[in-house]
Amino acid sequence: MAAAIITGSARGIGAAIALRLAKDGYDIALNDISEAMFESNDIVEKITAQGVKCEKFIADVSKYSDCEAMVKAVKDTFGSIDVLVNNAGITRDGLMARMAEEQYDLVISVNQKSVFNMMKLVGNVMMRQRSGRIVNLSSVAGVYGNPGQINYSASKAAIIGMTKTVAKELGSRGVTCNAVAPGFIKTPMTDKLTDEQKKAMIDLIAMKRYGEVEEIAGVVSFLASKDASYVTGQVIEISGGLMM
Ligand code: NAP
Repeated sequence: MAAAIITGSARGIGAAIALRLAKDGYDIALNDISEAMFESNDIVEKITAQGVKCEKFIADVSKYSDCEAMVKAVKDTFGSIDVLVNNAGITRDGLMARMAEEQYDLVISVNQKSVFNMMKLVGNVMMRQRSGRIVNLSSVAGVYGNPGQINYSASKAAIIGMTKTVAKELGSRGVTCNAVAPGFIKTPMTDKLTDEQKKAMIDLIAMKRYGEVEEIAGVVSFLASKDASYVTGQVIEISGGLMM
């Protein structure tokens, strides 16, 4: 059986991707920064109900040593790593003029450095297997910029460059690497916005509604599937027509 690892998958978009890949038949390696993140939900039960194996791996993906131990444990548990989804991400918003250095560095380290850590380590496994699928979570903020998110936009724009680089470096080994760039999706991350901010976003969306986590998971499932075998180095926006 093939296996998939999804970072930051205790809740939100990551949990929806994990459940969708379980429905597609993958054994699932869940990851989050703390065990507590799994206590308030039933994601493990939902995944095992699909008839696949599921294990939790607690690791801070911004730390290379954590990732190294996790990737070894996942490989030992499942035998292979066929799909890597780099989903873990945080926001620490603020206008540039008022942003603290720590606020900038933290977001870069969790959102961007983590993607290097995981692609390097899992990429080595996939190169030896001569097959693999990597999908990275970017954002429309990384494509177009967003006021109040210089740290987040920088990290998500970097992910696009990293995705294209890895697509070029690993393509000849049968490994594809793509990114999705969600717009405004209903999750705990976007629940933090004020009603005024939410309304302002909806006004800009052609489909006049927020996206659902399952609508991100469906595109990730496609990129991990056989149907996407000749798709690499691409960034797919999933935003209901936020920008065109
Ligand atoms: P979310 O609900 O906050 O889920 C992210 C998960 O990642 C949380 O469980 C979080 O745990 C975990 N995490 C944070 N830091 C971690 C670390 N160092 N190591 C391991 N796990 C960590 O976010 P989401 O809205 O589902 O977003 C998922 C991804 O999609 C992110 O990369 C985000 O930038 C991207 N995205 C989201 C939207 C949107 O509208 N929601 C739009 C564009 C892009 P904690 O709660 O403990 O931090």
